[in-house]
Amino acid sequence: MRRIYLDHSATTPVHPRVAVVAMNYMMNDYGNSSSVHAPGRKAAEAMDEARARVAEFVGAEPREIIFTSGATEADNLAILGVAHAAGDRGNHIITTAVEHHAVLHTCDALEKEGFRITRLPVDAEGRVDPSAVEDAIDDDTILVSVMLANNEVGTLQPVAEIAEIARARGVTVHTDAVQVAGQLPVDLAELGVDLASFSGHKMYAPKGVGFLYVRRGTRLKAQMFGGHHERWLRAGTENVPGIVALGEACVLAQEEIDYVTAHLTSLRDRLIAGLEERIPDVFVNGHRTERLPGNVNVCIPGVEGEAMLLHLDMKGIAASSGSACTSGSLEASHVLLAMGIKHEIAHGSLRLTLGRDNTAAEIDYVLETLPPIVENLRAMSAWKPGDEMPFED
Ligand SMILES: *Cc1c(COP(=O)(O)O)cnc(C)c1O
Repeated sequence: MRRIYLDHSATTPVHPRVAVVAMNYMMNDYGNSSSVHAPGRKAAEAMDEARARVAEFVGAEPREIIFTSGATEADNLAILGVAHAAGDRGNHIITTAVEHHAVLHTCDALEKEGFRITRLPVDAEGRVDPSAVEDAIDDDTILVSVMLANNEVGTLQPVAEIAEIARARGVTVHTDAVQVAGQLPVDLAELGVDLASFSGHKMYAPKGVGFLYVRRGTRLKAQMFGGHHERWLRAGTENVPGIVALGEACVLAQEEIDYVTAHLTSLRDRLIAGLEERIPDVFVNGHRTERLPGNVNVCIPGVEGEAMLLHLDMKGIAASSGSACTSGSLEASHVLLAMGIKHEIAHGSLRLTLGRDNTAAEIDYVLETLPPIVENLRAMSAWKPGDEMPFED
């Protein structure tokens, strides 16, 4: 059976060029980068090179890159690290209602420790208003954390504007930039944030590796204790194969970025236009233009997301409903609910996220396959055209 992978926001395949590099540091150059002997020095040198490549990719200095086990850990280190370094300078953190759970649940944990958390609302397209950030900042505010792009609906946030506002008030700024890496150019200096999280497996490197950008001078407390690794900020023997692979993935992403951005945008627009043409009352979630090139997210009233996924899977198409973390649970997406979409409609969401290897022919196959599935499922439900509007009144 034909297999079409359209769940790149959940994870990407490892690029062959990246896998070869990882394999070498598992089987041949397997030294511990803290060892003094030749194999150890070789691993340390490879890691230095990877750090330089990663830094170059995001417009940072190598010493500003802290390798972690992924973006969940990077988000935790950023938020807990700033909170626990704040002392009596303040205890208020501002974030948004549509963040990844790696941010939201970390903030929940801090709330239980006594920190005050403001979770800003978003508009119907999933955007945060920078002036709402300005209004929320007070003398106790120590951190603003707003994602660069949403992993479910693909909406890009005005992080540069938010960072300018927050930093003018002396507030540290963190962004979860996971979804943007490899889809759009990233320039952290231009963005003006102090901290940014990234994950390898969302950009054609293996799972279990990522990094946190920490601007020079940012006050951060380690959350993991042990050795002197990563400038005392993240103890634990470094994942050398993963880190070197991530360095290679950054070089690859940088080489290809213009092509990939254009390719994903063209596939995305073909898919959205085709769905709107072929499925009555389909509703596109998220912002039309301020959107990840590879993200398509739609609500299809009258259809359960899970049912659509199963039928697509039987036809060889791998998609998701909401994010990888909420699918499998029967909870409606917190992102769609925050955008004001009705509970029943939010259950009918379908996310198709594109990658560098997808083709126009694959998109056309989806456009042939999905409409009859929707028609059949709708025939079994009570839905009629024009029946339901997606938003709460
Ligand atoms: C995938 C993802 C994460 C978690 O990254 P891991 O490396 O899997 O821990 C965090 N934030 C966003 C926006 C993501 O898409």
